[in-house]
Amino acid sequence: MWQTLRIEIVIQRNETATRADVVIAGAGIIGLATALALADAGLHVVVFERGTAMSESSWAAAGMLAGCDPENPAALRELSLLSLALYPEFLARIEELSGETIPLRTRQTLQGTDHLPFDLRALKAAEAEALAPGLRTGGQSFTLLDEHSLDPRDLGQALPAAARAAGVELHEGVAVNAVHSGGDGVVVETTAGPLTARHFVNAAGAWAGSPGTSAGASLPVAPRKGQMLAVELPGEVQLRCVLRTPELYIVPRGGGRYVIGATVEDLGFDKQVFPAQIDALLASAATLWTPLRGARIVETWAGLRPGTADGLPVIDRVAPGILVAAGHFRNGILLAPATARAVRELIGGRRPAVELSAFRANRFDGMKDAETGQA
Ligand SMILES: Cc1cc2nc3c(=O)[nH]c(=O)nc-3n(C[C@H](O)[C@H](O)[C@H](O)COP(=O)(O)OP(=O)(O)OC[C@H]3O[C@@H](n4cnc5c(N)ncnc54)[C@H](O)[C@@H]3O)c2cc1C
Repeated sequence: MWQTLRIEIVIQRNETATRADVVIAGAGIIGLATALALADAGLHVVVFERGTAMSESSWAAAGMLAGCDPENPAALRELSLLSLALYPEFLARIEELSGETIPLRTRQTLQGTDHLPFDLRALKAAEAEALAPGLRTGGQSFTLLDEHSLDPRDLGQALPAAARAAGVELHEGVAVNAVHSGGDGVVVETTAGPLTARHFVNAAGAWAGSPGTSAGASLPVAPRKGQMLAVELPGEVQLRCVLRTPELYIVPRGGGRYVIGATVEDLGFDKQVFPAQIDALLASAATLWTPLRGARIVETWAGLRPGTADGLPVIDRVAPGILVAAGHFRNGILLAPATARAVRELIGGRRPAVELSAFRANRFDGMKDAETGQA
């Protein structure tokens, strides 16, 4: 009732003079970071979230700001470095507006790899084991990255609260059903009625390619499921940095809690957790870091990463007034501030600080559907 009334007020304002400047579909980290950046630029922003804000992939994530992960696609580097540079300001703004603290949980990552890039120094085995007592290198090279992590659940209340405090109208439980360009703007059809705006941003995560938000554009963003688990270890066991290999990661959250992930599965929108896969993940993690042997599992969950064929996001204007900010796959927590900045620049008609050609939606044109073989 309250939400319907609020939207009616917005619609009435539109009918008179002040329609929304920007409507955003999706209140994950990408939609809300973008909303905050646009509101801070003085725009009237309305976000529609069909469920609860920050409850999908952005809730499930490990929270590594893995901008220097050697496994990342090279084309992600510039956007990653910008996002890392923007992160302190992003968190400070959320803290200022929400009154909540978002602590960094770790400040370094011990990265194992079979192919160490030339610009990274391989640690001696003893150096790596000193950083992670109980580490079994298994013949891999390890290097130490100055890479931070946070707990995305710390953002779960704080980011929506910050966006609201900045003036964003966030409507939870309201889905976007259709979007049309028309006249001098965009008409957004929602489950609570239509709304007009100058711009629409599709930030619907793994659902961004569905007809309700894609506005007729071909947008091959698909869910890539990740199962994860958390264990608790006795206080004397200490791992102060993230421990990561191409196969898995162990992320200390503090207080003896360690998050371990993750599977990468193409199973549609299924979020079921399978004990056999969780057990296999824990067994692999315990082979890498022996203090995990016999560890007590305290939580399991799964999330749907928004995936694209090349592992890169889509940050683009796909039709007049219609933009996409989706497909951030394994790095959406990292990339949120830079994505928000890029969308703000596109909407403001300014040249983006980062070259966005690798993130255009039309790079998939002519791509064959993996299942049907149709172009
Ligand atoms: C297991 C796992 C581990 C991860 N670890 C990391 C990590 O360590 N570091 C990192 O940077 N990233 C990580 N990620 C990736 C990261 O979580 C995602 O890239 C990021 O959360 C994507 O954010 P988003 O806002 O696009 O999507 P989401 O958080 O999924 O938000 C999209 C929102 O859109 C809403 N929506 C969908 N359709 C509609 C509609 N029609 N109308 C209105 N709302 C709609 C959904 O309900 C949802 O709330 C991980 C992901 C997983 C699953």
